[in-house]
Amino acid sequence: MMQRKLLLEVKEKLLETLRTGVAKGYGYDKIWRMLKENGVEVSRSTVRKYYYKIFRERLKKRGPYLQRELRIKLYDEVRRLRKRGLSYSMIIDEVYKSHGVRLKKSVISYWCRDIHSPYNGCRVSSVEFLEPSPELSQVIGVVAGDGSATKKKGYKYDIKLDAKDREFVEEFAKCLGKVLKRHPPKVRKQKTGEFRVEVRAKVLYELLKKPIDINRIAPFVEHCEECMRRFARSFFDSEGYVDKYGRIYCYNSDLQLLQYVRKILNILGIRTTEPKICTKKGTAFFNRIRGNTYTAKKDVYYIRVITSDILRFYRLVGFTVQRKQKRLEEYLRKRGLL
Ligand SMILES: [Zn+2]
Repeated sequence: MMQRKLLLEVKEKLLETLRTGVAKGYGYDKIWRMLKENGVEVSRSTVRKYYYKIFRERLKKRGPYLQRELRIKLYDEVRRLRKRGLSYSMIIDEVYKSHGVRLKKSVISYWCRDIHSPYNGCRVSSVEFLEPSPELSQVIGVVAGDGSATKKKGYKYDIKLDAKDREFVEEFAKCLGKVLKRHPPKVRKQKTGEFRVEVRAKVLYELLKKPIDINRIAPFVEHCEECMRRFARSFFDSEGYVDKYGRIYCYNSDLQLLQYVRKILNILGIRTTEPKICTKKGTAFFNRIRGNTYTAKKDVYYIRVITSDILRFYRLVGFTVQRKQKRLEEYLRKRGLL
């Protein structure tokens, strides 16, 4: 384990090196290496912490990256020009003329020498580059349900989920990590007691902005049986409800989406009732968790899994949310089905 408190001696050396390093325009990584070379044992993260503590202005956010779709376009262009025998500077001029973007020589060199490529970067770029997977299907189900996909000022596209069941939010975070090829985003506990996960991902915003475009999500959801099951499960985690008689309901204001969920369940051999209206637009509600009142902005509909298919629902779909899953299991046990 790293020591929590830095020794005074180490701290002095750290600060001194930071001052000289920054004066020379070094980043914290180089400063850390300098310290190491001088035999000062300190972790890289500690150097980073002090670096930003002292030189706060360095924390200023960088401007938005070149959008990935654009980078991919430029990458293809650069490689094409290089094949035609153009020099790096000529390529820079050409790209500037055609796209108005002045690329750095180093970037062109990396691209031409196959060292970097926007295609296999650590982030996924646009909807066409998303690969179908059970995790993606799960993300789709969650955002279609309780989650949100919003566009904010300054090219910020956020995917967010607030929910009271930790395991549900954590699963979602894991799936986001897989889909976006990055570390799973952190799950944070809110003052309300709910859990929140939030991630910036334009690609998912485009796929999942509401109202959900069924034609867009269909190829991913219907990829295979596992994908369909995950979609249904996460949608029911969000919008599903098991009553004390073991009946499974699912609520949503998007009638088309609800019909789509029915279709997927139907393919899995689980039949549901036709959607019925349960809350008229304008009805007032009290949210116990958040302690506020809100009015339904839209009509809300529900479907119900027909009784004889409840066991099949349990076997093929089920819930990630423990309290819903337990309720379902209790019911099945009571009926002697489990
Ligand atoms: Zn699949």
